[in-house]
Amino acid sequence: MEMTLTQVQEALKLCNYAPGTVDGYDGPETQAAVRRAQEGYGIEADGIAGPMTKDHLSEQVRGIQAQLNAKGYSCPVDGLPGPLTDAAVKALQADFGLVADGIVGYNTEAALFDYAAADPAPVFDPQEQVTEHFNMQEFKCECGGKYCDGFPVPMNRTLIEKLEQVRKDLGIPLVVTSGVRCEILNAEVGGVPDSYHKLGRAADIAVYTANGYTVDAVADAGERYGLKTIRYYDRSFVHFQWNN
Ligand SMILES: [Zn+2]
Ligand SMILES: [Zn+2]
Repeated sequence: MEMTLTQVQEALKLCNYAPGTVDGYDGPETQAAVRRAQEGYGIEADGIAGPMTKDHLSEQVRGIQAQLNAKGYSCPVDGLPGPLTDAAVKALQADFGLVADGIVGYNTEAALFDYAAADPAPVFDPQEQVTEHFNMQEFKCECGGKYCDGFPVPMNRTLIEKLEQVRKDLGIPLVVTSGVRCEILNAEVGGVPDSYHKLGRAADIAVYTANGYTVDAVADAGERYGLKTIRYYDRSFVHFQWNN
């Protein structure tokens, strides 16, 4: 049975590709999630959930369902997301003291596939090339090692992935002028005490009018992907943050 768009969104959500609201509407968030899934499967990342993408997605769901059953959480093994699979994931999460959100993120995957015993959690890699155009280094704290090792918290990957989409849409390099900030640096640069920079969930992007773009054009591009923005016209940069 071929998946409907709603089922594709449910499957993307289940497999932690963050499609946003499951609404049966093929919007930018769904397309970005499809691209993330396609990149994971190593197939062409065009954002369109065609038959091959659906096959891969269905296989991934089936793998989760089979393992849920192997762990004693009963649900159909049909490669289609649904309420019974959702309930089984949440039951597993509750048993392992995880947030019962029905999403198979890293911790849930580790619990489900017994990674913890076999494989320690991956070490945060400050040099990781997170997306085609962004390396984790670009987001490190600007204190330059004075007050922290560069990453008092890891930088949020969803934010980086969304910035990558903005970069692709605009077709211009995006220069990060501020990413993660440690407590002291944030205070030094006059950041608000509850700044999202401290959570690794904000990045400031310089806007060079020589590229033919304005602060508004760059900010608007980010808002299309659900990023919150603050527009600094005088200093020509955009603050992007990802609240979810
Ligand atoms: Zn610092
Ligand atoms: Zn900022």
